[in-house]
Parts: sequence; C-alpha cells; structure tokens
Amino acid sequence: MSTTEKTQQLKSPIAPEWLTLPTEPNELNPVIWAEGVSRSEAGEITIAGLPVSELAQRFGTPAYIISEDHFRSRARAFRDAFNEAFAPLCGGVDVYYAGKSFLCTEVARWVAEEGLRLDTCSGGELALAARAGIDGVKLGLHGNNKSDNEINRALDMGIGRIVVDSLQELERVAEIARGRGLTAPILLRLTPGVHAETHEFIATAHEDQKFGLSMASVNGNPSAAEQAVDAALAHPSLELLGLHCHIGSQIFSPDGFALAAEKLLGFIASIRDRHGVSLKELDLGGGYGIAYTEVDHPQEPKHLAKAMAAVVGEACQRLGIDVPRISIEPGRAIVGSSTFTLYKVGTLKTIHVEHGTDVFERRYVSVDGGMSDNPRPVLYGADYSAALASRSSEAPLALSRVVGRHCESGDIVVKDTYLPSDVEPGDLLAVPATGAYCWVLGSNYNYTPRPPVVAVSRGEARLIVRGETEEDLFLRDVSC
Ligand SMILES: *Cc1c(COP(=O)(O)O)cnc(C)c1O
Repeated sequence: MSTTEKTQQLKSPIAPEWLTLPTEPNELNPVIWAEGVSRSEAGEITIAGLPVSELAQRFGTPAYIISEDHFRSRARAFRDAFNEAFAPLCGGVDVYYAGKSFLCTEVARWVAEEGLRLDTCSGGELALAARAGIDGVKLGLHGNNKSDNEINRALDMGIGRIVVDSLQELERVAEIARGRGLTAPILLRLTPGVHAETHEFIATAHEDQKFGLSMASVNGNPSAAEQAVDAALAHPSLELLGLHCHIGSQIFSPDGFALAAEKLLGFIASIRDRHGVSLKELDLGGGYGIAYTEVDHPQEPKHLAKAMAAVVGEACQRLGIDVPRISIEPGRAIVGSSTFTLYKVGTLKTIHVEHGTDVFERRYVSVDGGMSDNPRPVLYGADYSAALASRSSEAPLALSRVVGRHCESGDIVVKDTYLPSDVEPGDLLAVPATGAYCWVLGSNYNYTPRPPVVAVSRGEARLIVRGETEEDLFLRDVSC
C-alpha cells in the first residue's frame, strides 16, 4: 500500500481539521511530553528509565506521574531567561510560581530550591506554604475576596506582598495592618484592558471581569486604579510596592504582555508626575502557554523574556522612569508538561457517526478516570492527546475518543485523537500535559477517590501525594 493509500484509508472525515494523522504513531512529541519520557526498545513508555507498567503496578491507575527533573528545569528556564534578559534593566526578575496550577508541599519545596517564589490565593495555599517551610517574604497573596482571616494569616507569615484587588479590600488591608501596628506591603492589581490567549490579544478600554482595578476613567472621573493609588499612598499602614496585571492564559505571543507592560509603565510615570513617587515593582503576571497537542507551538522562555525586556526597556526610556523590578507568575508553563496521567483501558466501543450522506467510525476508549481527575475538557473544551503506553503498535490508526468512567456523557478526557485500532482492555494509556489545572481542579464526583501523584527522577519513583482511599471518602460524612 502506498503512503497516499494508507493516508486515505485512515484519515477520518469526522476528525477536526487540526488533527493530522501521525506518520509515526509510536513517536512521542518532545514538545508535549515531559523530558525523560521515551519508548523502550520493547515499545513501552518509560519515564526517567521507569516503565509505565511498573508504575501502574506499584501505584495503581489512574495516577499522575510528574517528572521532577522536568519541573525543576522549567522553573530554572524561566528564572534564568528572565534574569538574563532583565539584568541590564533592573538587576533581574522575581519569578513567582503560580501555586494554583498545581501545589503540594513537595512541589513547593522544589519551587523554593530552584530560587523561585510562590504565589498563593487562599488561606489553604498559605497553610501549605507554611508547612513546606517557605519564607513568608517569598510569598504573594492574590484573590478578589480575601477574608480577614486570610489577610491576618498573610501578615502573620510576614508576607512579601498582598496583591490588592479592589478599593474595599485596600481599606480592609490598611485597617487590619493599622490595628496590628504593621505596614502591609501591597501591589495593586490593575486591568490594563489587554486580554490575551494563544496568538491573539484584544485591547479594550473597559474590561468586563471580576479581577482588578480598572485603568479606564469614566466621565472624566479618576479611574479606580488612580483612586486606589491615592488611597494607598495616604495610608501609613500600607507600603505601595508597585503594580500588577495578569492578562490571560495559554498565551504564545509576547505582544499582549508587551502592550500591558507599556500601559502599566505609562501609569507608573503618571503616578510619579502626580505624587512624586516612583513605584519600585511591576508584576506582569502569568499565562505562558504550553503544548497540549501537535498544533500548539509555545515559545521558549528565552524568546519571551527578550521580547518583553526590549519593550520594557524602551518604554521606560521614553517615559523617563527608572525600570521597576519586574516579576512574573508562570504556573502552567512550569508544571503543565511535567506530568502525564496514566490510565488503564477498560472498555471499547465503535460508534457509527453520520456525516453528510456517509457513516464513519469513532472509537470510544473508556479509561479508569475521567472528569474527576481532569475536568478541563468539560470545563473549557480543552484538547489533549493520548498515547498507548504499555506497548507500541503497528496496527492501523482509528479516530478515537478517550472517555472517563463517570455518569455523565460529557465526561471526555481526549475528544479527538488517533490511537492504534488494536487498543484493548488492560492496555495502559498516557495523557500528557496534565500537570496544570487537573489535579487541583479534581473532584470526588461519583464517590471516586482522587488519584495519587507520583514523582519520578533518575530511575526512582516516589509518592508525593497518596491516592485517596474509600475511607477518605467518608471522613467528613458525620452520620456514617
Ligand atoms: C492563574 C494566574 C497565574 C498563572 O497562570 P498560568 O496560566 O498558569 O501561567 C498567574 N497570576 C495570576 C494572578 C493568576 O490568576
């Protein structure tokens, strides 16, 4: 059979346009998979030298398998690239790992060991940071509705910065700090009217979202951002360190960050003109994209850092202001591709789908997890890919949909992918790039215990979060 014949035979008209037929189905795209993942000679996927069958036997399925080496090298890549690019401008950057993307005490320690700081957004995340022994000075606290308890807890820990989200919260933080005889270090979270995703960004004057203080002035009145600056500078119990913005997520192009930086730097110049105060810090947020499927081409941290440094340097020069200390808050881009989820295949079905006047096949591959361990496909329509992990296969490819075990027809793990047509019950399947916003958004839907998190590094695997047991499921049920 010629290549064209093979392609014609396999290409499914009901597959989405972006999904191409892999020419080497057993190959693992290094942009999507963690470093240290490969296929053994026998065809099985291994990570850090460990075959997935061994991991499945030891830790069960489903399981999140995180490459410690990958996580650490991504953390260092952001740290080093941004430090290098910004060193001549402001001495370097502070990288805050966005803990909401994935956090447990072990990972918080990796973050600290690699010289990163940690962003939190709840009392629980602060508690985790404390348990991991993270110095309060290296923490940030986010959130649009922080409780008095959370603000107090942050101050107890000697927090490095509270990112203030509203005028009311500004007063609340000022009041709590005043009552305790403290000065609270704060940033103001502003909405610069820039919203970015993948390759595009939109710029608007007014942002229709719950976070931040608007920079837009209405009917000639001072904007919420201006009011907040005035109020912050008037409160002796507040130390206004600088400004913050976070413009979106899964962003590939530096253009949106650059535009947001320019707007905030312009605002810093206007604060200097109005108040004679030079703000020392500017946080440009997170949102750097990763590859979930073959169509995603994320840029290297080096490239992003260079492009952003060029814009920041130029804008500060033009505005005649000192370059503030820059910070960034990557989450997904550090942890996202460090992890894959290992599942076991349970059942298979071939469904016939009408398309035009013809009928085509779609293979449903049911695995032993689903929306309880990865709700992103259901929540956001997120795309993933999957690979047959316990062996390689030369069988023809079948357009497949990997689905979970939950009582919900939307329970999809990978909506569209090509898998070998000989996949059968008992095979292990791996879904890459599940490090960010999967475990943290997981649930006990259908009384399903949450899977364990297993860290692998240099031929060794260890549990860093154990899986839930049936006992765990009833711990809070007071009448059982
Ligand atoms: C979510 C969030 C981040 C991290 O976003 P990623 O897309 O994971 O990089 C950083 N900063 C703030 C304020 C956030 O809300």
